Amino acid sequence: MSLLIVGTVAFDTIATPFGKADMVVGGSAQYGAYAASYFVNSINLVSIIGDDFPQSELDELRSRGVQLEGLKVVDGGKSFFWEGKYHDNMNDRDTLITDLNVLADFDPVLPDSYKNSEYILLGNLTPDIQISVLEQLDVKPKLVMLDTMNLWIDIARDSLMKAISMCDVLTINDEEARMLSGEHSIVQAAAKILEFGPRYLIIKKGEHGALLFDQDNVFFAPAMPLDRVTDPTGAGDCFAGGFLGYMAKTGDISFDNMKRGLIYGAAMASFVVEDFGNHRIKRVTQADIKERIIRFIKLSQFTI
Ligand code: AMP
Repeated sequence: MSLLIVGTVAFDTIATPFGKADMVVGGSAQYGAYAASYFVNSINLVSIIGDDFPQSELDELRSRGVQLEGLKVVDGGKSFFWEGKYHDNMNDRDTLITDLNVLADFDPVLPDSYKNSEYILLGNLTPDIQISVLEQLDVKPKLVMLDTMNLWIDIARDSLMKAISMCDVLTINDEEARMLSGEHSIVQAAAKILEFGPRYLIIKKGEHGALLFDQDNVFFAPAMPLDRVTDPTGAGDCFAGGFLGYMAKTGDISFDNMKRGLIYGAAMASFVVEDFGNHRIKRVTQADIKERIIRFIKLSQFTI
């Protein structure tokens, strides 16, 4: 089993109703890799950073089994930077700044050792880069999961549609599902998006959980009700990393096992939001995960 993650490794400045964090380490691939590292012991990371990125953060990723051969470091370059501000409801946020920096010229070259990866997480990134990674693989992967955002639906729709047609599992939020499909009803949006190519679709609804669709079935996974959400940044990426990490660990890509994957993904998302940046997701233990999964079972188990 081998898992490849492509996405951003970044600096973020984040303001929430509970405070502000300046220039903390973030990025879709970074969050996805931490979440997946609790399920698999080797992850092939593909991304780009400048020489401003802290060595200690790279060492920590490496110590979790994250391979950095596919992480390009640009001498004299600046890492991707994103600044966001959350609304009081903590579900909606405004992007204040997106500085692509070294990402602007990123044309990933997959190391040979990555080319037969079986599970692929195409983290939020330009669709052209997501496609380029898929085209460089030597063998057809077992499962390709794609995450994206409203920005790419707006400015790169054609290449995004091509990337979507190449993936098995698409994960987007409810607002993006409506944008992509032009349908208001989530059920009709899902039916239309499944016609674009993916076999499975996960629609995330923030603190209201997530829905998994295929042609015949639908499953709902709640989000963990938490005392306090400090910073929702990275929740989607940790959800995706947890889901795909669990798929890779178990090697079972049936709809039934994806239901379990959704719950593990929701558990990983519930950790990252407890603190700013990557502070909490780095410190999770297997006992924490077990305890949270038991809480998930209790949350929605009932008899009639
Ligand atoms: P999430 O909260 O799961 O949507 O992920 C937030 C992370 O995505 C942050 O750490 C950002 O650095 C990163 N990010 C924000 N905008 C973009 C973008 N346009 N492309 C790639 N990554 C982004």
